Amino acid sequence: MKKDIRAYGYEELKAEMQALSEKPFRAGQIYDWLHVKLADSFDEMTNLSKDLRRRLEEEYEILPVIMEERQISKLDGTNKFLFRLYDGNMVESVLMRYKHGNSVCISSQAGCRMGCVFCASTIGGLKRDLSASEMLGQIYQIQKITKERVHNVVVMGTGEPLDNYDNFLRFVRMLTDEHGLNISQRNVTVSTCGIVPKMLELAEEKLQITLALSLHGSTQEKRRRLMPVANKYELSEVLAACDTYFEKTGRRVTFEYSLVHGVNDTAEDARELTAILKPRNCHLNLIPVNPVRERDFVRPSRKNALNFKNNLEKSGINVTIRREMGSDIDGACGQLRRRYAEGSGADISARGTGFVSSGEAGAGQDSHNRQD
Ligand code: SAH
Repeated sequence: MKKDIRAYGYEELKAEMQALSEKPFRAGQIYDWLHVKLADSFDEMTNLSKDLRRRLEEEYEILPVIMEERQISKLDGTNKFLFRLYDGNMVESVLMRYKHGNSVCISSQAGCRMGCVFCASTIGGLKRDLSASEMLGQIYQIQKITKERVHNVVVMGTGEPLDNYDNFLRFVRMLTDEHGLNISQRNVTVSTCGIVPKMLELAEEKLQITLALSLHGSTQEKRRRLMPVANKYELSEVLAACDTYFEKTGRRVTFEYSLVHGVNDTAEDARELTAILKPRNCHLNLIPVNPVRERDFVRPSRKNALNFKNNLEKSGINVTIRREMGSDIDGACGQLRRRYAEGSGADISARGTGFVSSGEAGAGQDSHNRQD
């Protein structure tokens, strides 16, 4: 199998080219083609000799990330993309337009094995990890297609990024490399369901990216009911890992809490949540749960969600409710991929991911929602 040339870091690519007896500046040119000019083929690299391009072609490939479908919201300009990977797996990405710039939500795996009960992406299980190149590819394609610069990146699409740690880390380093798109680390957010050893490892990297923890329950017992990963890591351990991340990086942690009516949105939940968050320098994002067809989880009414928020706010918690974006398109993660699987019998699990019916006004698992 050919090597994926887009997965090599700047210094690594220099070493590769040296092994081919090419001058180091060639590596710089190739890196620029791949990560600044966003080339999809060696043919585009016109400042390289034909001979070098041919030799590159023999040894390397650029893993394809090809747009299969695009939906554009008439309400807020949110774009949803379905990309096809080399092996037929499909992933979704979302572009959201904010006043402060464009934000892209990418997938880190095809499917997911974490099994959170309210999440659509996990229902078909994990198909495979994405390579760093395929994570970058989602952003590169969106920039190419829209001809707009991406300012913020959130790794909150399908998949658990810390379950694909090495590729994820490589992706962050390359995304924020000055020789590439050079996105500021502070504009990158990674969301995890709470894989403690990897959170601690990430803290040691001393990056400036934002860590978002999917909390969803205010006690170990409540969390366990929603998130199987809590069987492995106690809430206290997860919170301690968040504290370590803050201590090591100085970056305030974001907590995500999907509000499920009658399950985790009571006054008691608000009290317990306050007790957890009060001593911490953090931010809380409340996400009214997106209904998933196979489950009977219901989101609280707007009024109840606001009540919940006000309760926490009164206690001095820094909290926002996310506003839906792209609610007129297949907003929630997995919906587009799911619909595609139903319609075309494509080479992905017939069960696919995403079980929100297409008539539903769900607007993304999380990141497709804007803060109020
Ligand atoms: N695996 C990572 C990132 C992907 S999920 C994680 O667990 O954080 C991104 C966010 O969307 C998580 O907070 C997740 O719990 C939340 N989410 C998943 N399904 C949802 C749904 N149906 N409604 C609301 N939020 C959901």
